[in-house]
Amino acid sequence: MPLIKHRTIHRTTPSAEFVDDDELGKVKLISNNGRYLRINIRTNGEIVVSKPTGTSRRQVLAFIEESRPHIRRCLEKLSRQRQFKDGDAIGRHHRLVVRQGVRAGSRVSDTLVTVTIPDNYTDLQSRQLVHKAVAKALKSEAEHYLPKRLRMLALKHGFSYQQVRLTFAKSRWGSCSSSGTISLNVGLMLLPDQLIDYVLLHELTHTKHMDHSTAFWRDLELVLPGAKRLRDQLRKYSPYI
Ligand SMILES: [Zn+2]
Repeated sequence: MPLIKHRTIHRTTPSAEFVDDDELGKVKLISNNGRYLRINIRTNGEIVVSKPTGTSRRQVLAFIEESRPHIRRCLEKLSRQRQFKDGDAIGRHHRLVVRQGVRAGSRVSDTLVTVTIPDNYTDLQSRQLVHKAVAKALKSEAEHYLPKRLRMLALKHGFSYQQVRLTFAKSRWGSCSSSGTISLNVGLMLLPDQLIDYVLLHELTHTKHMDHSTAFWRDLELVLPGAKRLRDQLRKYSPYI
């Protein structure tokens, strides 16, 4: 895209400027009212430099160069997220369809997650677009499944809790607060059934024991024989979707 330097009074929407970087792909430039250049790496992998009016292109390029190690670290962190590809089963009911197209887009139906990726997208941008759509599908599955399943297991085994929340926590599958709120990770929808039940019953048992004491494990084993074996299996999975 050519860099537009002139301004016309007829323009209603400011057109974005870009820097094409060999390593980073398109870096978007926007204006700010401050005095400093700033860089922002969005969760979709988009790199945005905001610059005070009057900043030269040379200054912007130097700033990108200076920020390169920081940008790399951020991008690497983003790329550690789980990767999904065309044809993958997503959760219990969805299948992922990834296709090329003119415009970026995504759609989640009852059975399909369809993502359209433009040619000019970097790997990371594509992955982030897919990731966002997958997260949406998993959240919808989680909303339909987890609260109902939790209620069922609580009734069956005589536990009570106040409320249930869904999260995208990066390092935990679930938690239980002392006020009786059970939080469950949307990523549970990627686990086998018995491991989902393990997490749900683990958190329900915390409504009686807030620690991982012998009493906690004894009670958990009572409602779920082999609980510790399931705990070991769960370690093979990451809640970071
Ligand atoms: Zn626990």
